[in-house]
Amino acid sequence: MSNNNGKNRICQIIDEKKSLFTDASDKIWGFAETRFQLTESADVLCRVLEDEGFEIQRGCGGMEDAFIASYGSGKPVIGILAEYDALGNLNQEADLPEKKAMEQGKPGHGCGHNALGAGALAGATGIKEYMKENNISGTVRLYGCPAEESGSGKAFMARAGLFNGLDAILSWHPMNETAIWGFSSLANYQVYFNFKGISAHAASSPELGRSALDAVELMSMGVNYLREHVIQEARIHYAYIDAGGTSPNVVQPTASVLYFIRAPRSSQVQEIFERVVDVAKGAALMTGTTMELQWDSACAEYIVNDTLGKVMYDNMRYLGNPKFTKEDYDYAEQFTNTLTDVEKNIYARKIRQYFPHKSNDEAEALSKKSMMDELVPYFMTNAAMAGSTDVGDASWHAPTAQMTTACYPAGTSAHSWQYVACGKSDAVHNGLLYAGKVIAMTALDVLTDPEMLKKAQEEYKKQLGGESYHCPIPAEVQPK
Ligand SMILES: [Zn+2]
Repeated sequence: MSNNNGKNRICQIIDEKKSLFTDASDKIWGFAETRFQLTESADVLCRVLEDEGFEIQRGCGGMEDAFIASYGSGKPVIGILAEYDALGNLNQEADLPEKKAMEQGKPGHGCGHNALGAGALAGATGIKEYMKENNISGTVRLYGCPAEESGSGKAFMARAGLFNGLDAILSWHPMNETAIWGFSSLANYQVYFNFKGISAHAASSPELGRSALDAVELMSMGVNYLREHVIQEARIHYAYIDAGGTSPNVVQPTASVLYFIRAPRSSQVQEIFERVVDVAKGAALMTGTTMELQWDSACAEYIVNDTLGKVMYDNMRYLGNPKFTKEDYDYAEQFTNTLTDVEKNIYARKIRQYFPHKSNDEAEALSKKSMMDELVPYFMTNAAMAGSTDVGDASWHAPTAQMTTACYPAGTSAHSWQYVACGKSDAVHNGLLYAGKVIAMTALDVLTDPEMLKKAQEEYKKQLGGESYHCPIPAEVQPK
């Protein structure tokens, strides 16, 4: 059976079982759990995987809601990444084209990870079933990865060695466009700086007080000066977590600030981090307070792989442009109508960049459609997008390819109420099935084309430049 016949069969398998995957996506949307509290969502995926004959290992890497579902044996070993966490405070009524929470302050699936997990499930199930039917050797592992949005579950999984021994990694993300994920991401450290001082009456005995709030303010000032002397692409963000109380007449005995430090390479983040720590130490010295570091998490930059990316893209071309019905366009239009002119202009500019061969008129016509229904031309660059993902930590362990599919109305943003509202739409369902098919077809290529895999692995080693993965999160820090 040629690979094309095999790929057609894989698509058929996924279509036959599609309600398993779309139901899982809708259920996870409903649970909308966050960070490392994803028990119900992980359960939804594990139950299907169990029924499908995968062997499940739960509670991986010290995280209750992390799991690995394996099928098959021997080489090559393919990792497929699933996420299922929501975002805080983004609750929203489904299908409603106006911002309205079902329950104020509750989480919502504003990044489509409900579909992400279910699409990965479709991919793993599709290739598993095909391997079984055709007696193909090799191993497929579906990784259930908690806390992508905050907490960096995959960094903790990587620290525990769970990605070791993989030969290739496949993943995807629901977005507005059907495209290959052809760029890197920023490495990111997330660390709390906790200062302790001495409380005192601020008017009658200020000489006895040592202000932790002063320390945080001096730290901010020091870091503001530091920003001029770091590489252009670095980002240093901060938020006050504890300002030491609400009484100005009491010297603040505690204060705490959370820093995110980002740069294209982990080694660059490490350098900047050490300088930020020196600034914090200086602030403590100046104020007679003490400073303690508390790690939250960290993630590495994403290592792109052109070889595997092209194979994935060929499978996307094989499936062709995403198809939408008139109902899909009409549904989406209710949401594109909620965008401001600025948002529409940003989206139109993005479309011109994605399709450089199109005339301005053609690009404009495409950007006005309520669903993006053309496959974005292949591109791959080492430049980083202005954000971070813990898929980076996985990508340090094997050649990795990622794609996106058009699930959400054109021009709407991830982490928005519009994304949450559309989370159970037909376009999301079709997008996750499309992704599952491409992942399973690409897995088949990995299983049956050792020459390609060798080339992808050589490229991956070259990209690492002799470095190997180092998780900066100290061993004693546990995911929480
Ligand atoms: Zn996301």
